Amino acid sequence: MPHSNGDLPVKQLYINGQWRSPIAEHYRATYDPSNGEGLAMIAQADIEDTRLAIQAARTAFDDGYWANMSPGERSRLLHQIADALEARQDEIAEAEMRDGGCTWRKAYLLDIPVGLIHFRHFAKLADFDPLESVPQITFPALSYNIVRREPIGVCGQIIPWNFPFLMAIWKISPALAAGNTIILKPATFTPLSAIKLVEIIHDTGLLPPGVLNLVTGPGQVVGPELCTNPMVDKIAFTGSTEVGREIMIQAASTIKKVTLELGGKSPNIILDDADMDLAVDGSLWATFMHNGQACESGTRLFVPASIYDEFVPRLIDRAGKLKIGLASDGASDLGPVISAGQLKSIEEYIKLGIEEGATPALLGTRPTDPELQDGNYITPTIFTDVDNSMRIAQEEIFGPVLCVIKYDSEDEAIQLANDTIYGLAAGVWSRDAERALSVAKRIRAGTIWINDYHLINAEAPFGGYKQSGIGRELGTWGLKEYLEVKHIHIPLNNERKGKFWYDIVVPQLED
Ligand code: NAD
Ligand code: MN
Repeated sequence: MPHSNGDLPVKQLYINGQWRSPIAEHYRATYDPSNGEGLAMIAQADIEDTRLAIQAARTAFDDGYWANMSPGERSRLLHQIADALEARQDEIAEAEMRDGGCTWRKAYLLDIPVGLIHFRHFAKLADFDPLESVPQITFPALSYNIVRREPIGVCGQIIPWNFPFLMAIWKISPALAAGNTIILKPATFTPLSAIKLVEIIHDTGLLPPGVLNLVTGPGQVVGPELCTNPMVDKIAFTGSTEVGREIMIQAASTIKKVTLELGGKSPNIILDDADMDLAVDGSLWATFMHNGQACESGTRLFVPASIYDEFVPRLIDRAGKLKIGLASDGASDLGPVISAGQLKSIEEYIKLGIEEGATPALLGTRPTDPELQDGNYITPTIFTDVDNSMRIAQEEIFGPVLCVIKYDSEDEAIQLANDTIYGLAAGVWSRDAERALSVAKRIRAGTIWINDYHLINAEAPFGGYKQSGIGRELGTWGLKEYLEVKHIHIPLNNERKGKFWYDIVVPQLED
């Protein structure tokens, strides 16, 4: 992008409780996708910097102070950090709007408040009882058994650009709550809100050095080091299925624990008794929120033939009225997409859809508004006459492109909905609760919304079936992904005294 970077603020790496420049003194600008303006110069870590961060996290974990802190104390501390984040949430929102093209509404109505609620959720969960009860074991010998949850250790956490703050929260808060230490790597396009998050935490002075480290830099350099370094115990990744696969392969060399939140091509199923007003707006929200740059977006819309001719024109009419504009404008429904490259890729998919025989009932174009000429903008596209086997219906476009698929029977809709490599989420719209629930149960995906979309509850699990991922975030499930489980066995008699083998008497089953 055509901007001089001379006077931009410089953002350093955060290693062992200190801000420090990368060894090779390499920096890269981050930009505002609304207008192409340079925002800051971001330190680019190489392998050596990454190793320093890993070493710091290792030392902080192994010294045991953080890992063995009482759950109540850790919880109290995380609540104090939550207070600090709440007090400075405008700074986070500003970073999110400028660096990632997150609209004002998305920042203030969704990402920041939801992120803070999710952080609180884990601050509360940090006060968990590490002991789990097991029935007293009597075979092969009477014993007392302790089952204890313990932190996993050093966690490498790699996140994407679409929800930079929320994804950073989803990663660091359960890991901290469980007593782990962290190396967080934000996405190259959107480091600023994660840096802000770490700045705020640093300013509280509450975390011991090395517990939370932040390493900005290229995924292809920092990622493989995190995934193969023997000092790292776990990798948590959110991003594309393609990179997720690569991460699993790399992490295999040292058998790291891996959780993956990957891509999606989620079905959104309208049943013939749906509330039409609700379903039209809901379907647009399901697809076009953040320009379709959400992993769980409902990008395949299944509409029954019986209401198709009424539903689709209303959908197109309403979509044409969504306001596209600067992210900072409180009236914008849609802002820019993340990058010029992403914009080009979306346009290529639109071209492909036309070549595959789908009808561009609403064709996305670059807006002509002079104010929007320096940003990465494209208006929504709605394809009708889509066949579920087309590439536009099978591949994640990650842009404002909706595929409408007509169906005849509910069974057909479910079969097509499940005909995908992904299984992250789905929507079902109906006035009949029982019917909606029976469809929801038959969809192979981790989250199903009925008469709603995109809302994520702190207490409920989020994650993918099939190639959408491994593991779950949020709820108590999200905490357990950061805990090992240990069994300690203590005999209650001295039966084995003087013996190599026990005299084990196998209990006889009565008939
Ligand atoms: P991406 O996979 O290209 O990058 C994600 C992160 O991985 C970035 O930080 C990147 O720098 C890093 N990375 C790149 N190459 C790497 C490598 N070889 N080793 C390790 N790390 C590497 O994804 P993206 O374009 O930033 O984000 C969009 C994708 O994320 C979409 O596929 C979307 O569906 C997915 N996503 C999933 C969820 C979810 O919860 N399931 C949430 C948000 C986004
Ligand atoms: Mn940016």
